[in-house]
Amino acid sequence: MIVVMKMGATQEMVDRMARRIEEMGLKAHIIVGTERTVIAAVGEKRNGERETLESCEEVDKVVPILAPYKVASRETRPEPTCVTSHQLQIGNGHVGVIAGPCSVESAEQLLGTAQAVKSAGATGLRGGAFKPRTSPYAFQGLKEEGLKILAAAREATGLAVVTEVMTPGHVEMLAKYADVLQIGARNMQNYHLLQAVGDAGMPVLLKRGPSATIDEFLLAAEYILDRGNSQVVLCERGVRTFETHTRFTLPLATVPYLHERTHLPVIIDPSHGTGIASLVPPMAAAAVAAGCDGLMVEVHPDPSKALSDGAQSLTPEAFAEMMKTCRTVAEALGKELG
Ligand code: PEP
Ligand code: MN
Repeated sequence: MIVVMKMGATQEMVDRMARRIEEMGLKAHIIVGTERTVIAAVGEKRNGERETLESCEEVDKVVPILAPYKVASRETRPEPTCVTSHQLQIGNGHVGVIAGPCSVESAEQLLGTAQAVKSAGATGLRGGAFKPRTSPYAFQGLKEEGLKILAAAREATGLAVVTEVMTPGHVEMLAKYADVLQIGARNMQNYHLLQAVGDAGMPVLLKRGPSATIDEFLLAAEYILDRGNSQVVLCERGVRTFETHTRFTLPLATVPYLHERTHLPVIIDPSHGTGIASLVPPMAAAAVAAGCDGLMVEVHPDPSKALSDGAQSLTPEAFAEMMKTCRTVAEALGKELG
């Protein structure tokens, strides 16, 4: 239910109402809007709560939330959410660009890439230190050493560090080095991990599972929001279909569709979405045209030598070209890239 407070309700009234909702065994999420404050009351449905709350003097009305995802829903919060960290702004007229290698391979590789993507206009730095690989024999990442390299690159460039966390037991360690915790596609429905990053209280980039429906994707985000962490970015990275010409199939309609359903910002990963470097720049431009709030792009100084995902990685030069086109598209929509 959404408890809509009367215009001019004081903070004290809002807090009192939130307590009342909690006493009913529901969770209260206070959402301060530009016009008025609403409280999303979520939890297992019982009888009579709606009438009880509606009869309170400071309450204007109580409306049911129809979507299964309650806090993520536009019904709960009509204004879009903007997620920021250091120079990175995702949403609110900014198309944030997170770029970097698939995996951190060495200090030299990462720092060189960070400087190149920064000068092309990126505001976030990606790089996996813990890699979820299909084969147990493939490069698994530099682990904590990789995190240290990422943190050093942030010091040198000011870019916000986005890196993947694979298990709840690592959240505390990752939080020391990273600015945004990435939940990979394979872990989208790892509910304990979602709760753990929710508790970490820092921005989370949640990737769509390759076979997850949009409702499942939003319910995964809801696990994070339910822990009181509202800084969630949704990332479409392609889904598995019958098609084999690209690594995954990248549905760009996800962007406007999610914008209708949720206030959370939506970014596109055209690297995993296509698996082919030459397809990345046109799909990035198309994603910006579709209204995305950000991009995540793999860039490697020498893609042919990359320890993971070389085939889909752009050279720094190709990335800089991509940025020029994307900037033109963003500006045509009245937005800023980077
Ligand atoms: C990645 O970002 O390198 C990655 C492993 O992506 P995904 O989880 O989308 O496969
Ligand atoms: Mn990758």
